[in-house]
Amino acid sequence: MHQFTPRRTGLRTYASTVSTSVESRAPYWTLRAQQRLVKSLFASQVRQPAKNVIMFLGDGMSIATLTAARMLLGQRQGLSGEEAQLSFEEFPNAGLSKTYCVDAQVGDSACTSTAYLCGVKANTGTMGVTAALTRGDCDAQNNTANHVDSIIKWAQDAGKATGIVTTVTVTHASPGGGYAHIADRNWESDADVIAAGGDPAICPDIADQLVNGNPGRNIKVILGGGRKMFLPNTTVDEEGASGRRWDSRNLISEWLDDKSDRDATASYVWNRDQLLAVDTEKTDYLLGLFESSYMQYHLDADNATEPRLKELTEVAIKMLEKNRDGYFLFVEGGKIDVAHHSTLAHKALDEAIELSEAVRVAHELTDERDTLIVVTADHAHTMSLSGYAARGNDIFGFAGSDSESMPYQTLGYANGPQPYLQTTEDGSRRNLAEVETGDKEYEFPSMVPLFVETHGGDDVAVLSRGPWSHLLTGVFEQNYIPHVMAYAACVGNGLTACHR
Ligand SMILES: [Zn+2]
Repeated sequence: MHQFTPRRTGLRTYASTVSTSVESRAPYWTLRAQQRLVKSLFASQVRQPAKNVIMFLGDGMSIATLTAARMLLGQRQGLSGEEAQLSFEEFPNAGLSKTYCVDAQVGDSACTSTAYLCGVKANTGTMGVTAALTRGDCDAQNNTANHVDSIIKWAQDAGKATGIVTTVTVTHASPGGGYAHIADRNWESDADVIAAGGDPAICPDIADQLVNGNPGRNIKVILGGGRKMFLPNTTVDEEGASGRRWDSRNLISEWLDDKSDRDATASYVWNRDQLLAVDTEKTDYLLGLFESSYMQYHLDADNATEPRLKELTEVAIKMLEKNRDGYFLFVEGGKIDVAHHSTLAHKALDEAIELSEAVRVAHELTDERDTLIVVTADHAHTMSLSGYAARGNDIFGFAGSDSESMPYQTLGYANGPQPYLQTTEDGSRRNLAEVETGDKEYEFPSMVPLFVETHGGDDVAVLSRGPWSHLLTGVFEQNYIPHVMAYAACVGNGLTACHR
């Protein structure tokens, strides 16, 4: 039996961070369990209509991501890590969401967005349409009989203000399910429709639908990345990147013109200073596009120009809470998924903590008697947390040694770009003890070699607080979620808390 001894310095050890003497006593555990029991016994269900609903979506935020992210959070605070809690893990209600799509065992962000925003399961790659439509069918996209409306439309019809916030493009699959009816999630600009052999005049692209469609043009707050989808390819944006559109249209100008035609005040911002300077009291509509494409990872971002997710969330809430009849806000941590696809676990967990911080801000700015907050994911990923690492072991560290006496890490992926059995130039197997595994750019190893790591098909968690959140307990289909949000907020055509 070989034992691997970590060579890296800085690895945490249980003894250095946790008082074993406290945890070795029974009353410590008994008291904590009894406290939790009392909390549950005195928890009350809020059974009045929700004035506001905020949905947080961690793209690809699997349950293993939650567990590992909370350990990272705790270890950053100097704790052992396992005992830490993400902000939304304090919420009283939890359920499990089944994320498969009509044509797929493992979902993508488009069909799942149709489920958790429109209440209907769909085919892979499509948003805001039924499964009668297969991916890429431009003509079928144009047939309104195939369209399904989202909770953003339902909320607007009921007089509520609406907003979308994301760290990827505002035209990406997750927010797109809230306002677009599209046969292919990649049709973010007209250039993408044309490249796929479609005609944007027949099947308008996602950015066009956001600016000119219904409910897109009535969304009060739009914050995220993706400027290039709004600008002609003959122009460059504020940061020097080229536009992508072939139709010579500037959709940022069209968006501003539409608001002024409706006698509304509207602001377009493209950096953090401008965002934080917005007078939310006097601004009816706000469009913020902070990058040409995705926003930067929090670990890489230039904080002078790039707002954090919690700042975007705070501005969005301040914009929307002016509305007397309440609001629906969708907030996505989109880069958890992007990082996982490259097995960049350092960044994936950090982005999950960023989402946790954004939820904390929303929790503090709102009242749980009138605001329902739901936190969930669209689908899982293949990262697992395994081995028999000692308590308090660095979550990015080694769990032990494998059958070939090589070190292996607690975090690993079922598939991805860095297979475990890859060999070095001299034909020997790569030894991770000689790799800079603590670097944020380090790609964690996987079993199956794939250029891009895939999604996972396991259920995802749904954590919630506020009016009717107790309905989001148990195991349910993902498309049940917006039906509960609509019930609580008294919007949509189904049952509501206002007409029981
Ligand atoms: Zn993905």
